[in-house]
Amino acid sequence: MENKSVFEMILSGEIDSDIIYEDEQIFAIHDINPVAKVHILIIPKKKIPTINDMSESDINLIGSMFMCAKNLAKEFDIDQTGYRLLFNTNADAMQTVFHIHLHLIGGEKLKNI
Ligand code: AMP
Repeated sequence: MENKSVFEMILSGEIDSDIIYEDEQIFAIHDINPVAKVHILIIPKKKIPTINDMSESDINLIGSMFMCAKNLAKEFDIDQTGYRLLFNTNADAMQTVFHIHLHLIGGEKLKNI
């Protein structure tokens, strides 16, 4: 069987983490190595290794991840000051966990990309 991703292990309780949001399809945690004051990961419970593996049937799921990001941005009071949402995909983007996750980054002035 394929190795579990770190996010599957968090979801199953094998790795300790504070889940700050959870519904039937997705959950969210603080990034263990934050690059800004607010750095949250929004993760589908379904393991999709990279955005390249996304299919038409995942459109609603990915949309829900963005809705969750929007709601968490408000909850963490960065909705008006600003934030960045991103998916890293494969080596050149330095993706390290092959279970897609949406980074929600903010709480301070971010460097231009
Ligand atoms: P990426 O480089 O886009 O694949 O992002 C993976 C992210 O997962 C990195 O920002 C890591 O800091 C984060 N990460 C890895 N392990 C954990 C963990 N146990 N809890 C929270 N975040 C983690």
